[in-house]
Amino acid sequence: MTDTFRALLIDKTDEGQSVAYTQLTDADLMEGDVTVRVTHSTVNYKDGLAITGKAPILRKYPLIPGIDFSGEVIASGDARYQPGDNVICTGWGVGEAHHGGFSERARVPGEWLVPVPEGWSNADAMTMATAGFTAMLCVLRLEDLGLTPEAGDVVVTGAAGGVGSVAVALLATAGYSVYASTGRPEEVDYFKTLGAKDIVHREEFSGKARPLSKARWAGAVDVVGSSTLANVIAQMKYHGIVTACGLAQGADLPANVMPFILRAVTLAGVESVTVPREARLRAWARLAQDIDMERMKAMTSHIGFDDLAATADKIVRGQTRGRVVVDIA
Ligand code: NDP
Repeated sequence: MTDTFRALLIDKTDEGQSVAYTQLTDADLMEGDVTVRVTHSTVNYKDGLAITGKAPILRKYPLIPGIDFSGEVIASGDARYQPGDNVICTGWGVGEAHHGGFSERARVPGEWLVPVPEGWSNADAMTMATAGFTAMLCVLRLEDLGLTPEAGDVVVTGAAGGVGSVAVALLATAGYSVYASTGRPEEVDYFKTLGAKDIVHREEFSGKARPLSKARWAGAVDVVGSSTLANVIAQMKYHGIVTACGLAQGADLPANVMPFILRAVTLAGVESVTVPREARLRAWARLAQDIDMERMKAMTSHIGFDDLAATADKIVRGQTRGRVVVDIA
């Protein structure tokens, strides 16, 4: 195809980073055997960092940011996908080292794609996207490590954010008594809609962690890192399990070994970028089964393709709530 399409392009010069909408052609796209007409993308924390330039997310310039997208296949050299199929792409360095989702068109290897679950629209798929997928991986990890609702209360940190909100909803659906840790206690109704039993102010996880605190949680999903994660670990019950996937507060971990050697606490890392296809399909199938999409609409806002810069700024300031879907088409 030689026709043009619109994309957000980030470039870096001696003067710094430039971010501009540009017309491109298929020749500008990177390697891959499936070309997709992108209909939706999302704004993740990482996208916020990339667009504002607040952290070195991009590994190549110029690059189209956007770490995930959904859309319709328009050309495919991969037998698993035919023109007209609706697909999801998350991870694999898309929007970091490979042109991403803030574009009307994308080209990626078919191996990076999964089908949009039956009964979902492409917008529904991006209501979940990387954040929902990561939240699902965290819940599956807790379950694979043996956590059950009978073990006791569980806590989700950064609960008003994208990963946190979906984690709260998934844990509630799976029958857990789930507490939402947040700096936005005024959003209590929002958390109850997601299925939280109650909220805990995030101040309860701030400050220097003690070697051990009162044992409170059987399981935890942490997206915040730093002293929050250290305090969560110190509050875990005997045999408690914590997943760590994020660093919204910081990349450090000022914890000590006492919870591990005296309470046999497990700290399990979760990443969503290079998850093998089988594990991806398992997570998306479980999301499709457990997510009440109508309920998720309460935590989703939609923005236009032209609103990316303002939203990127908001997400790095912690001012967005839940998921932000970008209507590209
Ligand atoms: P969001 O910005 O949507 O949510 C982050 C939430 O963290 C905020 O809403 C806020 O929750 C809380 N928070 C922010 N700053 C602080 C702070 N200084 N101290 C305590 N809490 C804070 O981000 P996402 O949900 O999209 O992502 C969360 C994290 O997970 C990010 O670090 C992201 O990079 C990471 N991530 C990692 C993935 C992986 O593959 N490992 C995949 C996806 C995300 P509240 O207002 O409720 O307090």
